[in-house]
Amino acid sequence: MKQTNKIYIFLFASIVLAIVYLFFATHTIQQKLNSNIETILIEQAKSFAKNIDDELHEHIQKDPYAELKQNPMLQEHLEGALSIIVNDFFKYVFVLYRDDAGIYRYLLDGSDEKAHFNQRMSVEKKYWDSVYKTKQPVIIKQSELENIWVTYLQPVIFDNEVKAVVAIDFSTQLPTSIYNAIEPLQNVFLYIFVAIGILVFILLYQTLLSLKNKQESITDALTQTYNRTFLRELVKGIDMSKYQIMMLDIDYFKQINDNYGHKAGDYVLKKTAQIISQQIREDDYLIRYGGEEFLLFIKKGENENTLAFKIAERIRKKIEKTPFEYEDKTMRITVSIGLTNNPEHFKTLSLAIKHADEMLYRAKREGRNKVVSHNTNNTKKEHIERKNINEMKEALEEDRIICYFQAIVNVNTNKICKYEALARMIDKDGSIVLPYLFLDTLAHTNLYNDFTKRILELVFEKIKSKKVAISVNLNFSDILDNSIYKIILDELQKHQELTKWLTIELLEYEIMQESSLIQERLLEIKSFGVQIALDDFGSGFANYSVFETLPLDILKIDGSLIKNIDTSKTSYTITHSIATLSRELGITTVAEFVHSKEVLEIVQELQIDEAQGFYLAKPSADI
Ligand code: GH3
Ligand code: MG
Ligand code: MG
Repeated sequence: MKQTNKIYIFLFASIVLAIVYLFFATHTIQQKLNSNIETILIEQAKSFAKNIDDELHEHIQKDPYAELKQNPMLQEHLEGALSIIVNDFFKYVFVLYRDDAGIYRYLLDGSDEKAHFNQRMSVEKKYWDSVYKTKQPVIIKQSELENIWVTYLQPVIFDNEVKAVVAIDFSTQLPTSIYNAIEPLQNVFLYIFVAIGILVFILLYQTLLSLKNKQESITDALTQTYNRTFLRELVKGIDMSKYQIMMLDIDYFKQINDNYGHKAGDYVLKKTAQIISQQIREDDYLIRYGGEEFLLFIKKGENENTLAFKIAERIRKKIEKTPFEYEDKTMRITVSIGLTNNPEHFKTLSLAIKHADEMLYRAKREGRNKVVSHNTNNTKKEHIERKNINEMKEALEEDRIICYFQAIVNVNTNKICKYEALARMIDKDGSIVLPYLFLDTLAHTNLYNDFTKRILELVFEKIKSKKVAISVNLNFSDILDNSIYKIILDELQKHQELTKWLTIELLEYEIMQESSLIQERLLEIKSFGVQIALDDFGSGFANYSVFETLPLDILKIDGSLIKNIDTSKTSYTITHSIATLSRELGITTVAEFVHSKEVLEIVQELQIDEAQGFYLAKPSADI
């Protein structure tokens, strides 16, 4: 919660507490006032009662009843004295005695409408009797009698015996007037209290409503994960050193939509999100980044640089194992994941996210259903930021675009028969930059033409100096692009005597339109003696129509198949069928990604012609 909100809540709570306190305080004040005034009045009543007692003793010898009965003049005189005391507060002032039967009767009455002498008076006997008994004054708090609040009783003693009792009744007018004076104040507090109550309720309701709205605005409706709005907020405040970044994408998701319908696709998205949520913790964030792409922020453990990798593997395996059942269909899903283990090594969070995206791209290129991370902590500095157009322009101008070469081995003779040229950029600090960090920058720019030209020049230089066969990567779009196609033809013409050493590799996954134009142009290229290879066959749709439409000499079987050929029956069988088919069509086969002795042995067994991979040779700067 923001600091200001906390302050508001604190202020608000203080005000509410103060009002509640005042409300109850006025009540206490009222009670204190009542009791203080009561004490004052009783003190006064005492002194009045004492005066009456003195007056009685002055005029009476020993028996008030007998002597007053005899002397109506004295009665009148004393009653006059009593009536002086009567006012708004002292409502009744009178003197009673107890007759032999224990009944209380009037001796004197100070009120306007006087009782008769000796008139019977019903009293609360227990108090009156106690005055007789204890010879002490008594204070009676009246609750039954109307208009009377307190009654003060004082014994009149002759010869050490109680002969009469002076009674002073206090009217309720005083406490009522105190109450009346305080009541409006108390009401004000009550109203404020109620108003605050209503206000609190409204505020609470509004807060809940805005929380709900806020929650909705940052949640993806389909998957119930966070959305990009949330990401924009998160980016502002996140401490990058505390998280690892994971970018996850469902493999071949488009096919699910195409084969089972959009609803099934939605179901797969929802379920994938659910599975991912189950594999992460409260502190982690799961964000739907794009259509079928999820971004995760994994809270780093103590000294645990591999945490994201472990979680990513867990997610990958879980999804791979889970059957996705929708209506009566069961679908199998895999995901590819790219990681950034140390986002704090990047200038901005979006560069760190971009890096995870690049790792995801690598995972896709390396066969999918895979987690790719590379730790930027490595002492060997690797380049992680994509190159911008200016850097590429400079690199081209300063001849910092070069080729690495990876040997391709003839499986039968065990001799190197060819090299694949792999583009690299030398960064200003001398480090080597891989193509995935600059090819996108070059795409659809004029620089791309210069780049292609440069690569072809380098390859021909190498062929000339080393007298070796070299294979170079191009795209179908390069062949279709008039200006690039012209550059290719120009280079071929320039180096006609070398072209028989050249192979052009085209990537299978590129969508092929205008196949007749492609065909025509490839045939033109072939007329120079150049061989045509199809790269990464089996990574995408393994579309067999390419055998019909393309004038192929060589087929490079995708690494994702080859690398599992010794462990996966499926990979083995597919590779076997591709190899057999190619053999029958007279197409040379090349196995990519041969990373172990076991894989190489199976490649030999399948009678694949050529092999390439780390087990045989790594790419190097020279031949
Ligand atoms: P790759 O293995 O390279 O990731 O291939 P792919 O088919 O998974 O990826 P591609 O990016 O080619 O296709 C993603 C598709 O996801 C395209 C789009 O129609 C679909 N898509 C995007 N958002 C939604 C969605 O909310 N619901 C459904 N059902 N499909 C979606
Ligand atoms: Mg995608
Ligand atoms: Mg996908």
